[in-house]
Amino acid sequence: MIQENLDPSNMKDSVFAMAVEQFNAAADVLNLEEGMRQVLSSCKREFTVNFPVKMDSGKIQVFTGHRVQHNMTRGPAKGGIRFHPDVSLDEVKALASWMTWKCAVTNLPYGGGKGGVTCNPKSMSSGEMERLTRRFATEISPLIGSYSDIPAPDVNTDGQTMAWIMDTISMHKGFTEVGIVTGKPIEIGGSLGRTEATGRGVMITTREAAKHIGLNLNGATVVVQGFGNVGYWAAHLLQELGCKIIAASDSGGAISRTSGLDSNELLAQKNSTGSVSGFANCDVITNEELLETSCDILVPAALEQQITGNNASRISAKIIVEGANGPTTPEADKILTDKGSLIIPDILANAGGVVVSYFEWVQNLQRFFWEKEAVDKSLDSILTRSFNEVFNTSQHYNVDMRTAAMVNAIDRVATATNIRGIYP
Ligand code: NAD
Repeated sequence: MIQENLDPSNMKDSVFAMAVEQFNAAADVLNLEEGMRQVLSSCKREFTVNFPVKMDSGKIQVFTGHRVQHNMTRGPAKGGIRFHPDVSLDEVKALASWMTWKCAVTNLPYGGGKGGVTCNPKSMSSGEMERLTRRFATEISPLIGSYSDIPAPDVNTDGQTMAWIMDTISMHKGFTEVGIVTGKPIEIGGSLGRTEATGRGVMITTREAAKHIGLNLNGATVVVQGFGNVGYWAAHLLQELGCKIIAASDSGGAISRTSGLDSNELLAQKNSTGSVSGFANCDVITNEELLETSCDILVPAALEQQITGNNASRISAKIIVEGANGPTTPEADKILTDKGSLIIPDILANAGGVVVSYFEWVQNLQRFFWEKEAVDKSLDSILTRSFNEVFNTSQHYNVDMRTAAMVNAIDRVATATNIRGIYP
């Protein structure tokens, strides 16, 4: 089993080691042979760049960024770009590999990639962010392209970031390359329904899971960790189905209210003050207390490794829907599954974003744009089908939903690899 030369003493906190552990659990179910395990658990390309940015003060600062292409057997690499102080090559590799499995479990014609820059956007001006984004786009331009590797938004990046990347690459080429990024503003080739797509996918997969365990969503209680793009839209769309949002958090703090929080009022608070904390008539709680709040549905929608061996035994949610990538460690997975919680794994629960990114890319390549109803309907149909395929696999092999999702995904990529053959 490949462990990517990791120092065993660092294994616990390595996000990539966690991704490989999840991979190996599913590879065991499939009896995948050693050579194929090595191919599919390695990243094809790992590209690191160190680049200067002129700050507002006039001083130069050097930033480090990465673009990783994990696997491109089934199509171009696809995956977001993250700007965060904790970005590391290890994290980007894990996120790139999850993109491969996410695209395969939903049967999109893509491989997996991811990018990131280690920086603190909260302490940078808009001008500094634009210069950082344009220079990073230039640095990774040997890799990205409409037919090779297509970035999208992730933590602390959005439609504006994608617009800067598209414009930068288009300036280099001398013509507008619309399909080089997805998650763009509508005015420059974005798709209707993309902004809320990941949260919509969280809602769709929760709805399907609730049917399977007989949970009535009308009045079901929901806790959201990370009230950002994914967290807000998940909360908003679950509220539309009748769920009650009883606690939410962001990097500024956590709040709870048993009578229910209105997602739009909470968003207005976050937009005006920068955080959900301070919202009127709420109890102030810690991030730990938030995750352990008694509820029917827990949506971790912030960062990796939030649900661990240390807190899993105190989490009582019936359904855990992973809006974030990698929020649950393998140790916590086991504790929660043994307790009877149903975990909808990240590669399925948050796949709505990449599904609509795929629709955006198809629209860009065809120069033909869809109505919002067509986008939402096709997203619902792909995710409902994928959820049920994963559920059936979990029953067939008697494994948890994460292993089942990985089994379906790995099987598709391994089959494609075998059909293509090993070059030369
Ligand atoms: P975002 O930047 O819009 O929101 C992230 C939120 O998490 C912010 O509100 C931030 O304050 C909060 N947060 C950060 N650290 C926290 C902590 N320790 N405790 C509580 N809250 C914290 O980012 P996003 O696009 O919503 O992404 C969130 C997660 O969803 C990430 O794991 C990302 O990889 C994943 N994801 C995003 C998309 C997408 O389309 N945006 C698609 C798939 C998966």
